[in-house]
Amino acid sequence: MAKKKVHVEVGRRQLDLSNLDKVLYPDDGIVKAEIIEYYLQLAPTILRHLRGRPLSLVRFPDGIYGEQFFQKNRPDWTPDWIDYIRLGNEKKKEYVVANEEATLVWLSNLACLEVHQMHCISKNTASPDYIVYDLDPPEDYNFQALKEIAFDLREYLERHNYHTFVKTTGGKGLHLVTPIDARYTFEEAFQAAKGLIGPYLDKNPNTTLHIKKESRKGRVLIDIYRNRPSQTIVSAYSLRGRKGATASVPVTWEYLKGVKNPSDLNLASALDLVLNEGDAWESIRAWSVPLHTDKRAIATKELPANKKHKTPEQLEEYEKKRDFGRTPEPDVVSDDGTGNRFVVQRHHASHLHYDLRLEQDGVLKSWAVPRGMPPHPGVKRLAVQTEDHPLKYLSFEGEIPKGEYGGGMMWVFASGKYEITKEKKDGFYFRLSGKTLNADYRMHLMKGKEWLLERVDNPQQDMLNKEVKPMLADTLKRVPSGDYLYEVKWDGIRTIITLNEGKLTIRSRNMNDITDQFPELNIPEEAFRINNAVFDGEIVCLDAQGKPDFKKVIKRLMTKRSVDAERFAARNPAHCYLFDCLYLDGRSLLTDPLLRRRDWLRDSMRFDTPYRMSEIVEDGRALFKAAKEHGIEGVMAKDPLGKYSPGKRSEAWKKVKVKETLDCHIIGYTKGEGEREKYFSSLQLAVLENDGLVYRGKVGTGFDDVLFKWLKDKLSNLPKVDKPVKEEAHDEKVSVWVDPQLKCEVEFSMITNNGTFRDPVFKKMVD
Ligand code: MN
Repeated sequence: MAKKKVHVEVGRRQLDLSNLDKVLYPDDGIVKAEIIEYYLQLAPTILRHLRGRPLSLVRFPDGIYGEQFFQKNRPDWTPDWIDYIRLGNEKKKEYVVANEEATLVWLSNLACLEVHQMHCISKNTASPDYIVYDLDPPEDYNFQALKEIAFDLREYLERHNYHTFVKTTGGKGLHLVTPIDARYTFEEAFQAAKGLIGPYLDKNPNTTLHIKKESRKGRVLIDIYRNRPSQTIVSAYSLRGRKGATASVPVTWEYLKGVKNPSDLNLASALDLVLNEGDAWESIRAWSVPLHTDKRAIATKELPANKKHKTPEQLEEYEKKRDFGRTPEPDVVSDDGTGNRFVVQRHHASHLHYDLRLEQDGVLKSWAVPRGMPPHPGVKRLAVQTEDHPLKYLSFEGEIPKGEYGGGMMWVFASGKYEITKEKKDGFYFRLSGKTLNADYRMHLMKGKEWLLERVDNPQQDMLNKEVKPMLADTLKRVPSGDYLYEVKWDGIRTIITLNEGKLTIRSRNMNDITDQFPELNIPEEAFRINNAVFDGEIVCLDAQGKPDFKKVIKRLMTKRSVDAERFAARNPAHCYLFDCLYLDGRSLLTDPLLRRRDWLRDSMRFDTPYRMSEIVEDGRALFKAAKEHGIEGVMAKDPLGKYSPGKRSEAWKKVKVKETLDCHIIGYTKGEGEREKYFSSLQLAVLENDGLVYRGKVGTGFDDVLFKWLKDKLSNLPKVDKPVKEEAHDEKVSVWVDPQLKCEVEFSMITNNGTFRDPVFKKMVD
């Protein structure tokens, strides 16, 4: 039977794919096309971990219950463009190296469900760049008990100065991986691991080094023999040829606590995990350390006398405690003597720019990049080489006095380690591995001191081109005290503003593009100093007293024609209060502390425009009192060190409203009389509780003419129904009941004994 073929283009490669509808996982009905899709969607993240590594392939051409092939040699028919490396005895084996997306697609097409990797990269196959501790439990071992061993072993390894990462294996086990500097032999690394695990076994009787199953006696094997040369482990995010299409998925230690069954991490869930939580191993290379047995390296590592030696956890703690907004203390880059550190500084001198600095031979090679780090492939940035800087700039942060050279504020924007991945006649390729920036770039010399800087790998999340949902807040009844920053809760339209290469887009919280409704806010150059950013804010229209007037701004949202928008903008100009910055000039800021994000937000805004910084105050009670007196909606309390979680309700933000509000379903309306004859008199409301809709009364105030008309149109188009609540309603005789599709927010003073609102006021429509 002829194979069904499909011709595709992936990047700059042409491929023929065959039998896309072939079922490879019969229990789950998963076909080959889904395998290709999985690897392609996760490619940016997978390639970060795979690039340069010699791979072994496990192919399942007839599905997971058919014959499987473990292949070290690349197949004869491998296309020329796929990279490989000769290794082994007399260099006879040719190992595939996956450096681009198309290679992953090609592998998937071969029904290579599993990818296994060596512990080194092609450039330096003599030295592993991590040690793996493969926790291999007996059949039917309790996963919670295995997790306990993993946490215990982690603590033990970290006491020896290793930073420990963890992933599921796609089976019952766990891989603990500690990155090391790639400058030791496999034997040295293996001996270091063995020297550590020996004493550990005495401490933990549930573990063993016995490979033979019968000698393990119900104990968990800590398989360190995998660290031998030419041994492999399954790669991060590789699928397994097992029922359920399980995968070997990196997780944070925090996340691992909640994992009940490792098979929950699989083809169906891995992508969502990466998109929602990020890649748990993203910064792994930045954490490499010398072997604990390397006395020489430890000696060179000694910190100046006034600083104590700190473990990675202590360093993290230290960073968390630092008040980023106030003290000009540097980010932490540990010196491990390998001479491959980097820093990107944001430098607001006479012109805002970024300084990229790479450690080399005891100095920092430096480039000024005026428009910031390129966000994705296809964007080229001018980089002007400046004089070499001393190493102390790796962590320099603070204000350079005005009048001095480079006077202005300098921040550490990103730092970590780098490697040159390829040398070229007229430049080089390099990879930055940091806690906040992990990307591959190309630096290309044009003339004199002028270089072009280009990003060459695809980011897994292109925040400039994807829809980012705003973070939500918990509701509290009282203003919390403690370590919070307090802000006015602006009563307007929550908005995410994207600046993409200077083009501005305004989106509402449900991601509608509302840029055209607010022409006075579409002024990217006038309002901002930067080209690429994602901001969170609230668009408000102010009344005569300077208070946000929700009705005015909602009216603006309902204008359809651009002529009207211009007219309204002149009569009733909008302001936008910005309070957060999620992305800036080449990197995501989601995990930066709020204070830090606010610093950069403020520094990105120009003065005297309709954009304003939503200011913070320290006395929350006083702000709440003022909000009450002036009819402001409420107060926000935010954790100064909290991260930003798009689309999620987070502990880090709390809102406290002056009046109580509830989101209600509109279940009907009462017919209008007098001036309201054309519209309606009031809306009938219900809230959704456990056993269905519960009646909450009517609301007849809070509307204006525009809203009356808009709502009447909406209501008339809804299907008529029987009364959707069982409680007796007010004015049933003159009520029309509609399908309860619409929701609105209603403000009230209390809920009365019969379950209805007292003093209800319509606030706004909600999704
Ligand atoms: Mn500079």
